[in-house]
Amino acid sequence: MKPFKFEQATTAVQASQTHADAAPNARFISGGTDILGEIKESVLEVNILVSLAGLSGASEIISSDLGLEIGALVTLARIASDQSIVETYPALAQAAESVATPQIRNVGTLGGNLCQRPRCWYYRSPLFDCLKKGGETCFASDEGNKYHAILGAENCHIVHPSDVAVALLALDATVVVSNASGDRQMPIGDFFVSPDVNMLAENVLEPGEFVSKVKIPKPSSGTRSVYLKAKERQAYDFALSSVAVSLEVRDETITQAHVVLGGVAPVPYSVPQVDSELTGQKIREVDVQAIGQLAVKDAQPLSDNSYKVRLTASMVARAVSRLISE
Ligand SMILES: Cc1cc2nc3c(=O)[nH]c(=O)nc-3n(C[C@H](O)[C@H](O)[C@H](O)COP(=O)(O)OP(=O)(O)OC[C@H]3O[C@@H](n4cnc5c(N)ncnc54)[C@H](O)[C@@H]3O)c2cc1C
Ligand code: SF4
Repeated sequence: MKPFKFEQATTAVQASQTHADAAPNARFISGGTDILGEIKESVLEVNILVSLAGLSGASEIISSDLGLEIGALVTLARIASDQSIVETYPALAQAAESVATPQIRNVGTLGGNLCQRPRCWYYRSPLFDCLKKGGETCFASDEGNKYHAILGAENCHIVHPSDVAVALLALDATVVVSNASGDRQMPIGDFFVSPDVNMLAENVLEPGEFVSKVKIPKPSSGTRSVYLKAKERQAYDFALSSVAVSLEVRDETITQAHVVLGGVAPVPYSVPQVDSELTGQKIREVDVQAIGQLAVKDAQPLSDNSYKVRLTASMVARAVSRLISE
């Protein structure tokens, strides 16, 4: 392993400037559960790690009438167990609870979970210099693509690994990004970018920028949400397919819907055709099987992952079914 420096930042400006000055060979570190693996496995070389762990105010969960603010350093374990999140934003608590193991959830942070790198086994092996590492080919295009994308992928077929991101998109969250001159914020759907937009990164962060918090608007009283995840191994695993659904129901009619798929596309994947189809329907009249099929109508499976099409259709049907019977 190549030696690198470690800097413990105490202010956002210091963190940002140190990172920007050493770009592109600097990385932020929060809990370290993802980035240290990348370095140890020789997938990544850095000159400096800038720790965000000492930043004040980034470990708070603030719940108000306007909604929720979660600092980027809040651990996944806290998100899974925080009473205000469990009661008002259940899809988020369920997504956080579904991540990895208790040990990883106790250390892994919200910011790190959103910014973790892909799990494609070719990307994670130092032996394969694929498109995502600046190489010239995607080794998953023709074989070894059981866990890869069925939607929204052209040249690189990664799936976004974060469970939490899928729930946050369904809940219309906003990501707050800090840099040396202040903050900027964006809907979480605009934070993630597919490899077709930027092959080398999965989000819009510029050198010196980091996620400082996530904001979620307070849902109306008729809103329900759920996160379901299918895994190959039940002890702990990344999603083969997952779905987050948020429905607003008034007088037995769906007045707003947001369905988001995980584990099947390079970014958390909204399916607006499903949202439109659900909106305006009486909850007792929803054909959940048809809704599941609609969610995967654009799927383009690879050689080894057509099972994900059926699986995802059934996950969507189950999630919608669960919410309309609540
Ligand atoms: C065995 C195992 C199983 C896992 N299973 C799952 C799973 O089922 N579902 C799932 O969602 N995840 C899973 N993960 C991933 C895990 O959730 C992440 O490793 C963790 O959330 C990352 O958080 P961290 O604070 O440790 O990030 P770090 O390792 O510190 O950082 C991760 C990445 O994000 C960047 N970063 C960190 N914080 C910030 C910030 N605030 N702003 C900008 N960039 C930042 C770092 O530079 C790095 O590239 C698994 C990981 C392991 C090791
Ligand atoms: S899917 Fe992406 S990360 Fe995986 S081998 Fe292909 S280019 Fe590399």
